[in-house]
Amino acid sequence: MNCNEAGTLVARYADGEVDNLQGRSIEQHLRDCASCATKHQGVLALRAQIRAEVPYFPAPPALRERVRALLANAHDATPARPRPERDRWRWLTGGTLAGCTATMLAWVLGTAVIDWRANEDVALEAVATHVRATLNNHLIEVASSDQHTVKPWLSARLDYSPPVQDLANEGFALSGGRLDTLGKQRVATLVYHHRQHTIDVFVRPEFVHAPSALRTVRGFNVAHATGSGMDWLAVSDISPDVLTEFVQRLAQKAASQ
Ligand SMILES: [Zn+2]
Repeated sequence: MNCNEAGTLVARYADGEVDNLQGRSIEQHLRDCASCATKHQGVLALRAQIRAEVPYFPAPPALRERVRALLANAHDATPARPRPERDRWRWLTGGTLAGCTATMLAWVLGTAVIDWRANEDVALEAVATHVRATLNNHLIEVASSDQHTVKPWLSARLDYSPPVQDLANEGFALSGGRLDTLGKQRVATLVYHHRQHTIDVFVRPEFVHAPSALRTVRGFNVAHATGSGMDWLAVSDISPDVLTEFVQRLAQKAASQ
């Protein structure tokens, strides 16, 4: 294995995505080659740093309201007895309806928390993938602004066919595409350029844990849209409103085709 081959595999090796044979070859190369070993350490360090900097999100007011509404309904169903607002939470765990309501509450909280974690993970993974592709100079595997070249290339390598279009006349030029792994799925990544900025758009069949709205991770914005039976997840350092509008436009256009 030479440095070129190792270079294309280093990131996948760090993610445990290479087979045994490739794994052994690259391990051997990393032992012998200081330059590739440094690159590998860089990928590991970046991943650790991104993991360490994931912010913790407290429950939003909307969820608190949902839980309150559930409690209020359950409360209405029991013989009325005035109760100070402050006691409601305690009443929930110790009261007559504790079993039923606590189960519902646990379900609501559990589901919501799992959704957020999964959303955060997808947004985080998308940013890490974008950064890694940029660092490794591996943004594009099929270079073309022609949808009739990019789409078949991607379709041949995936079990779905991602809609592909060039929006150059709207200021977003298609530069090509590549394959990535997101949420343990192989996904199509479309690469666009807007002025000097690169935009990665991950396209995959609609997925349960898609980020609900806009996220900012380590200075990158992540915007999400659905359309044409696909999830569209855009990552870039362009402004959040421009990115959001672009990804919505892309999803919309695909749906109208
Ligand atoms: Zn090397």
